[in-house]
Amino acid sequence: MHLVRGEGAWLFDISGKPYLDCYNNVPCVGHCHPRVVEAICTQTGLLNIHTRYLHDHILNYAERLLEKFDTSLDRIAIACTGSEANDLAMRIARFHTGSEGFICTNATYHGNTTAVGQFSDIYEPVGGYSKNVLRVAWPDSYRAPKGIVDLADHYAAEVQTAIDTLAERGISLAGMMICPIFANEGLPVIPDGYLQKVAALVADAGGILIVDEVQAGFGRTGRWWGHEGSGVVPDIVTLGKPMGAGYPISGLIARGELIDRFRQQEMYFNTFAGNPVACAAGLAVLDVLEEEELIDNARQTGGMVVEGLNALKAKHDLIGDVRGDGLFFALDLVTDRSEKTPDATAAKWIVNDMAQRGVLISRIGQHENVLKARPPLCFSAEQAEQLLTTLDASLHSLTRQNILER
Ligand code: PMP
Repeated sequence: MHLVRGEGAWLFDISGKPYLDCYNNVPCVGHCHPRVVEAICTQTGLLNIHTRYLHDHILNYAERLLEKFDTSLDRIAIACTGSEANDLAMRIARFHTGSEGFICTNATYHGNTTAVGQFSDIYEPVGGYSKNVLRVAWPDSYRAPKGIVDLADHYAAEVQTAIDTLAERGISLAGMMICPIFANEGLPVIPDGYLQKVAALVADAGGILIVDEVQAGFGRTGRWWGHEGSGVVPDIVTLGKPMGAGYPISGLIARGELIDRFRQQEMYFNTFAGNPVACAAGLAVLDVLEEEELIDNARQTGGMVVEGLNALKAKHDLIGDVRGDGLFFALDLVTDRSEKTPDATAAKWIVNDMAQRGVLISRIGQHENVLKARPPLCFSAEQAEQLLTTLDASLHSLTRQNILER
């Protein structure tokens, strides 16, 4: 696919063919939003420099962003990528606790540095996994083992087991990193109370809870942050992807005591991070999210899409489960509904077939069988209808035979 232009929820390839973008979550306010483009161009023409000097944009941005978090989270550090923000979070957790143990969920991804790569269950890190990091089962509400009475207790118990296993190895807990919506794992319905239970276990073990909002943040879920409403206030929140709508900017938000002590004794400098152009982009994203009421739109249009997806489930046996959170959707494809056997082949076929029909989606999950759609937050009711009708047509045309032919 050779794309040359984007506008709103649309992408255009070199031949002029339009694609409805239901995949890319970075251009959260829509591709090439004029407000963001203007902010970047104007600031580029004025000054672009590192953060060793004072600049209004970084201060204004920090203040605007911090207002959107619990008041205890009152410091920000800026980086360029989600990986860097998570790497810094790990450094702060190790510094603060003096410990080396980390826990993450399996089937996850938090970035590409040597430290954060240890959390990836998708790609094994070069040199293998460290004994300091343990991966626990993510809260899979759809394929949970049968007969479990309380899913939250069941999956939280995995975290306690990991803490105990680390202790047996003589390793105390520095922290746990968790995506509040388990975006890479497959967007499960999170059992009530799960995050609270996990937060309590991590705190009891003296660890730092790092909530990775790189995918969930900035209104994707119809809430500002994925962890909002969970009853949990993290020690550290990390941000990325949609933060600059494509301009590289990421962030780490934390309690003051965590950052202040770290800053006194440790060094953190990042040449390109938080430059005036990046902050201008970040400010423009906040403006557009607020003025165009895109977070409300994520809730409303997202609700419509989930209804439509459930109607498709009633027609197509291939769909085992429909899950949605704002403008983030997951369709769990199965060869049979009773056994819930994942159908990764069908998922791959549908993603390609949809692209040919002019709608971009992708797939995720531990079994790579979950169709995912994450359109820009300006997604309209008409575009939602197009996603649903195209998906319906694609599901209709899927047969075992045409899977084999591809
Ligand atoms: N955290 C999560 C949850 C992600 O999905 C990703 C990227 N897919 C990252 C962190 C890493 O972000 P980046 O690619 O900007 O380094």
